[in-house]
Amino acid sequence: MKRVPLKRTTVLISRKPLPRFSAKRSREQRTYSALRQAFLENNPTCAWPDCSELATTVQHSAGRVGERYLDVLTWRPSCWHHNAWAEDHPLEARAAGFSVARLAVR
Ligand SMILES: [Zn+2]
Repeated sequence: MKRVPLKRTTVLISRKPLPRFSAKRSREQRTYSALRQAFLENNPTCAWPDCSELATTVQHSAGRVGERYLDVLTWRPSCWHHNAWAEDHPLEARAAGFSVARLAVR
């Protein structure tokens, strides 16, 4: 059998890589960034009971899916330690009022 080199029959299309975030999410992130900065300036200390550390991040007590991402009412100012702790111990964080069950929020 005679071997024939393969020949491309279609034209190569240079494709742009997919954007990392949608246009909608990019707009939300800009809003979030401004809200977050103002929130942390107005709430400078960690909301965890008996913690007086500087709040460096936002605990999204009801999660950050959909409209909850920008819902400031569900945000809690938090130090890095307690934010990580709440993620690692969801049941204890809920018991302390630092987090709520995602399905309980409407
Ligand atoms: Zn703390």
